[in-house]
Amino acid sequence: MPTFDYAPAPESRSVVTIANSYGLFINGEFNDGHGTPFDTINPATEEVLAQVSEASTADVDRAVKAARTAYETVWSRLSGADRGKYLFRIARLLQERAREFAVLETLDNGKPIKESRDVDLPLAAAHFFYHAGWADKLEYAGLGPAPRPVGVVGQIIPWNFPMLMLAWKVAPALACGNTVVLKPAETTPLTALLFAEICQQADLPPGVVNIVTGAGATGQAIVEHPDVDKIAFTGSTEVGKLIARTIAGTRKRATLELGGKAANIVFDDAAMDQAVEGIVRGIFFNQGHVCCAGSRLLVQESVHDDLVHRLQRRLATIRVGDPMDKNTDLGAINSATQLARVTDMVAVGEAEGAHRWSPVCELPSRGFWFAPTIFTGVSQAHRVAQEEIFGPVLSIITFRTPAEAVAKANNTPYGLSAGIWTEKGSKILWMADQLRAGVVWANTFNQFDPTSPFGGFKESGYGREGGRHGLEGYVTTGGAR
Ligand code: NAD
Repeated sequence: MPTFDYAPAPESRSVVTIANSYGLFINGEFNDGHGTPFDTINPATEEVLAQVSEASTADVDRAVKAARTAYETVWSRLSGADRGKYLFRIARLLQERAREFAVLETLDNGKPIKESRDVDLPLAAAHFFYHAGWADKLEYAGLGPAPRPVGVVGQIIPWNFPMLMLAWKVAPALACGNTVVLKPAETTPLTALLFAEICQQADLPPGVVNIVTGAGATGQAIVEHPDVDKIAFTGSTEVGKLIARTIAGTRKRATLELGGKAANIVFDDAAMDQAVEGIVRGIFFNQGHVCCAGSRLLVQESVHDDLVHRLQRRLATIRVGDPMDKNTDLGAINSATQLARVTDMVAVGEAEGAHRWSPVCELPSRGFWFAPTIFTGVSQAHRVAQEEIFGPVLSIITFRTPAEAVAKANNTPYGLSAGIWTEKGSKILWMADQLRAGVVWANTFNQFDPTSPFGGFKESGYGREGGRHGLEGYVTTGGAR
């Protein structure tokens, strides 16, 4: 099938100013950390973007103290309506500065500009607007009489949706009257640091939001800090388990949003072209760095060959390359470490006997890249059918009956999301009822909305984010400390 050469359509880099180095944002001000500073790079070019402070245990302690003081003296005493005003202000500032944030996100993360511009930033602003609306209505949220804040919340987020995950964490925490110490992932700290400027611009009282940068050790210092009341974590199941073990027996509460291995299930009566679009959106959106990615395609045996053929034709049109180009569909893999993980897992798939296919595509010589990849002939026992790859790699499995599809879809330690493609509403309802997954999409995939709770079953974690259910993790009806 012919593809067209598009003229380059690069987004301007000049809309954002990147400093040479960044400090920690504690008590409303930037100051240097006492750990070893580290570089953050553009994964599409390997260019160093900036040097970032590492927060030591003592820095984390300062941040927690600032959050505690702000909680006790200001934030928990404000009326819900006043907290809401700050959140509305933050939401509007995010909209005003959306282009700046989108460009910075793409430079630091490697995701295509059209995704950071059209998905990450609009959704991040929407989360602040949505939670601003809840701030003065918490008594009516069905969470029990007079819900009160939990206190100081430690929030640790991953690198795949840096700004969006920040919004998922900070907006509900603040709406409910908590103060936060947030740690962005070490490979993508820059938009969180720009958000610190938004907090200053919004005149948010000092200490309500504190941002500390660093890697696992900094995260661990937050988790272990005795004056943190709750941990909100998004990341790998491995670290989630470690956190659960660390806080066991303490008064700390936790919500954990962990990994996934979602089944995207296509029946023979599905609208095939739409299903192909949904499969592409399911696994190639954000380079497959998506916890709820549809990384296992379960296809009814009778339409397998036709569907694979259509999918291959469609994949040949995917544009891989410069994330700053507005035509790019698939950007850079976030880090050398992640590229090595994806490469290793694909080698495992081949060694186990699955058949690997990628469209012909030229990958840039610098940076971290992986071509869109599908595996056919995958069995349930293959590691590529069981383990999270977190990259642009799809494993295709067949089934014959709805019951078999359910059994195969549920045959995983995870349970974050699933997709169903069929023209029969009754089949959708029956399937959705059987699937052990927190989110089930029907005839669509990877749709997100702040009103809709998101979270996992089984080893995908516990707690919900978004919607009325998401507020539960940030309030107590037992009285605040
Ligand atoms: P990761 O667990 O290694 O890192 C996530 C965050 O935790 C980072 O900020 C990291 O610095 C921090 N961290 C690392 N070790 C820590 C420790 N011992 N104590 C405290 N904090 C620590 O995960 P990753 O590789 O950066 O991210 C990818 C994973 O995240 C995938 O498995 C993916 O499925 C999952 N994820 C889940 C969701 C969700 O909503 N369920 C969303 C995005 C990503």
